[in-house]
Amino acid sequence: MAKIKRLLKLSVILLTTGAFAACSGGSAESPADSGGAENSVVSESTGNSSALEGTASSAASESSSPESSAQTVPPIAPEPDYEWDKVVALTFDDGPNTTTTNEVLDVLEKHKVVASFFLVGNNINDESAKSVKRAYDLGCEINNHSKTHGYMDKMTAEEIKAEFEYVDEKVLEITGEHTKFFRPPYIAVGDLMWENISVPFISGVGCNDWDNNVSVDRRVAVITKSVKDGGIILMHDAQGNSKTVEAIDKIIPALKEQGYKFTTVSGLFEAKGVTPVTQMIYSNVTQQSMWG
Ligand SMILES: [Zn+2]
Repeated sequence: MAKIKRLLKLSVILLTTGAFAACSGGSAESPADSGGAENSVVSESTGNSSALEGTASSAASESSSPESSAQTVPPIAPEPDYEWDKVVALTFDDGPNTTTTNEVLDVLEKHKVVASFFLVGNNINDESAKSVKRAYDLGCEINNHSKTHGYMDKMTAEEIKAEFEYVDEKVLEITGEHTKFFRPPYIAVGDLMWENISVPFISGVGCNDWDNNVSVDRRVAVITKSVKDGGIILMHDAQGNSKTVEAIDKIIPALKEQGYKFTTVSGLFEAKGVTPVTQMIYSNVTQQSMWG
């Protein structure tokens, strides 16, 4: 089924010679999480990118070049071999922008893995939308991180709905798909949020990568030591976060070396045969309690 979908997608890509040009210029302001309440385990600062390499058919083994005006290559992600692989999902918060988001995508393409992006609505504009489209076309998943990146546990029901729906509608315009998961800003969660946001909530394992004082090596060490099978890695593609771009260039091959495959958040649930439920905020899709 998924394979058929992928082949269909490939056909569409082959038929439509158009594609998208590389993003340039424009800089979307992206608020880095200042993370006071966040700890290093359940933190807003994990980057999770999921990409499945491995069973890659020949078609999927080529990565698409954003510079190419006629894109004739498929998304990065081939089908994972869920039977025995260890699987993780890389996720990135606080984009989109036209710089760091694209640098992250360059690294993902280099290593032929996909990831999931949790967007801040106020960062979406005509230019940064091209980065979103590029990510989506590469096989990445586009998710929801609220419009304003405020403390939503302090908001009214109407405000909460508006925060979610703004991003959901923008993503629908760009990709044709709704957002599938929600990451609460600062991982701040309240009852009204459960009641007014219909998709599953995602946290993750991070390395405080919103803090520029955290070195590249520290980011790599924390993630590669703390990630587990079924885990969600939480990082940030906020504008200027070049240390995370460098870090994932090391994290991805290191985790591959440990036997991990990369997929999207959706792919992770599918891989582990888990149906996400509400009143849970997932850092690992196999967790049994609200916070894992
Ligand atoms: Zn954030």
